Amino acid sequence: MQTILITGGAGFIGSNFVRMMVNRYPRYNIINMDAMTYAGNLVNLSDVNSAPNYRFVKADIRNRKDVEQIFSTYGIDTVVNLAAESHVDRSIEEPEVFLTTNVVGTQILLDTARKYWKVNPNDKYCKEYKHGVTFLQISTDEVYGALDETGLFVETMPLMPNSPYAASKAGGDLIVRAYYETYGLPVNITRCSNNYGPYQHPEKLIPLMIQNCLAGKDLPVYGDGMQVRDWLYVDDHCHAIDIVLHKGMPGEIYNIGGNNEKTNIEIVRLIVSTLGKSERLIKYVADRPGHDRRYAIDNTKITTELGWKPVHTFEKGIQETIQWYVRHENKE
Ligand code: NAD
Repeated sequence: MQTILITGGAGFIGSNFVRMMVNRYPRYNIINMDAMTYAGNLVNLSDVNSAPNYRFVKADIRNRKDVEQIFSTYGIDTVVNLAAESHVDRSIEEPEVFLTTNVVGTQILLDTARKYWKVNPNDKYCKEYKHGVTFLQISTDEVYGALDETGLFVETMPLMPNSPYAASKAGGDLIVRAYYETYGLPVNITRCSNNYGPYQHPEKLIPLMIQNCLAGKDLPVYGDGMQVRDWLYVDDHCHAIDIVLHKGMPGEIYNIGGNNEKTNIEIVRLIVSTLGKSERLIKYVADRPGHDRRYAIDNTKITTELGWKPVHTFEKGIQETIQWYVRHENKE
């Protein structure tokens, strides 16, 4: 592993992951490719912008010519695909772009990786690849659908996505799997639970609630607010990605989660009380169509086989996160 293409590196998880990799591995070249949709923000990366092992390229994963250009210019040997349309509400309003980016874009990256990594470029069925190359698809627990009050998602469960976002991520996962089964491309897939931490777009639950709370605005909570999510601090997710990149077995899927189930309303109340505001700001609104009730991850495989474990407790991580958004209010 020498030259890592990180797609979607200007987004929430991407920018945290790029920063970690640039600082942790000065010997790797980190190429951040991002189309800079509304969700990308290069201010997120101003501290690593001039690092000698870092380059940013503005390009879209759906543009085959640009993707090929990046592979040939930089000699990419590793791909971590974080580029995605990621907001469930938007996927309900406008599903098409979710399919073109999350499915077709992923397939274009896979195809390009295959083209540049095959040992014999003239053999269209070649299943042998250059030493050490790998393609890591960053996916989500939402591909499994919803759980009742008990049970956990395990990697072998059938995919039952409910939102257009989750369906597009499931489609991405399946095409990654097909490239492993059909062409032998060395791939991994990670499926992580909800992340929280710095640099998240203000459309998502935690930053939205903090921002509205600070401005004294209403805090819209879907339905009864009893939807359960399994929250993980973004740095813990980034460390898990790093471990899968270095130790993952080809073709394997790894769930990532911190055993931290919270209801949405618990999170909102915690933000309100931490910021010393009134719960009268909380306003229950009509539930999102197809809103999954509960997600929860069984992380046994990654903890036992690869030795990953989360290091941030929710109590500490959420307080640090709230304080980060307070410090950065109106700065981005
Ligand atoms: P995000 O929306 O904050 O960032 C996505 C990034 O991808 C943005 O910078 C955007 O500009 C870029 N992008 C979008 N379309 C692109 C395209 N066609 N070509 C190139 N770049 C493009 O998302 P995030 O929350 O950081 O999520 C990153 C990945 O992790 C996604 O694949 C998501 O499904 C997955 N994931 C997220 C969470 C979470 O809680 N946020 C949990 C599990 C998995």
